[in-house]
Amino acid sequence: MAIELTHHLYYISYKKKSNRWKIFAMAQREPMSLFQFHQSFSTEEDCAKYIFDLRWPKGFICSKCQNDKYSLIKSRLLYQCKSCRYQTSLTSGSIMHRTRTPLMVWFWTIFLIGCDKRGHSALSLSKKLGISYWVAWTMLQKIRKAMGQQDANYRLDGLVEMDEGYFGGISKGMKRGRGTTKSKVLIAVSTDVDKKHAKFLKMKKVKNFNKTTVESFVSQHLNHGCTIQTDGLNIYESLNSLVKEHQKFIIKSGAAPLPWVHTIISNAKSFVSGTFHGLDQKHFQGYLDEFCYRFNRRFWEGQLFNRLLAACLGYPPTTYAELTQ
Ligand SMILES: [Zn+2]
Repeated sequence: MAIELTHHLYYISYKKKSNRWKIFAMAQREPMSLFQFHQSFSTEEDCAKYIFDLRWPKGFICSKCQNDKYSLIKSRLLYQCKSCRYQTSLTSGSIMHRTRTPLMVWFWTIFLIGCDKRGHSALSLSKKLGISYWVAWTMLQKIRKAMGQQDANYRLDGLVEMDEGYFGGISKGMKRGRGTTKSKVLIAVSTDVDKKHAKFLKMKKVKNFNKTTVESFVSQHLNHGCTIQTDGLNIYESLNSLVKEHQKFIIKSGAAPLPWVHTIISNAKSFVSGTFHGLDQKHFQGYLDEFCYRFNRRFWEGQLFNRLLAACLGYPPTTYAELTQ
């Protein structure tokens, strides 16, 4: 077992008979610069090797028969088990499954999305990476899906502020005067007891603000043992039975009993309007998922690329129909 420093990535590695270094676990301490990133992943082989080591940290193992011998079919980048002949690719079962986009483009996209607080629109990404708008848009949607699925594994706990907010105005293609469409969003953020720091965040678009949508949001995203703080609206009336304690505040002008949730709503509005210039209602939850994902990992900036890449490899492929529905 040894620790090795390569391209600012810390590898805890071990040697096998083959004398080959293998990644066992990794933690990046500092965020990578664009130059460092470029040095680390300057070829398709660099990216493929990185994914190989993430998928099979202790060397190839066949998912069907657990055999560890394989042969590589180079023309199709397939790994074939020498025992049962089952074929698998580096990206099978992930959002990158059967992708025709080079791995380097995926890596750059994940790096830029993970590390830039302002996020990227499909247009800015297509210009930066020299790819088509359509390719950029599809990758972004898939990455946002993986972000949402990753955050769905966690529930908020402890002290939680909750509120509702309206986002957006006239959506794309809608004629002036025919009405504005505002997205309704339920927001909950956990904080420490003295409210000095916010911890984790959930934001979900809902059809309406009512008792049913509030109850379903709380049951799905908050632990039963938490203490929830809301304003005095009657949509929150039935929360007593779902959590340990429900504290209601009557909001008076000048008073701010729910400071974090209000700050976050305002930041999220700037993110959405600043990055995307107008709301695409259909994919609005994706923007919220991206905002929450980055917020929830703001203290692990140096690990964001690895974490997001792992999330992208860990979730199943999304079909075109699912992306556009
Ligand atoms: Zn096998």
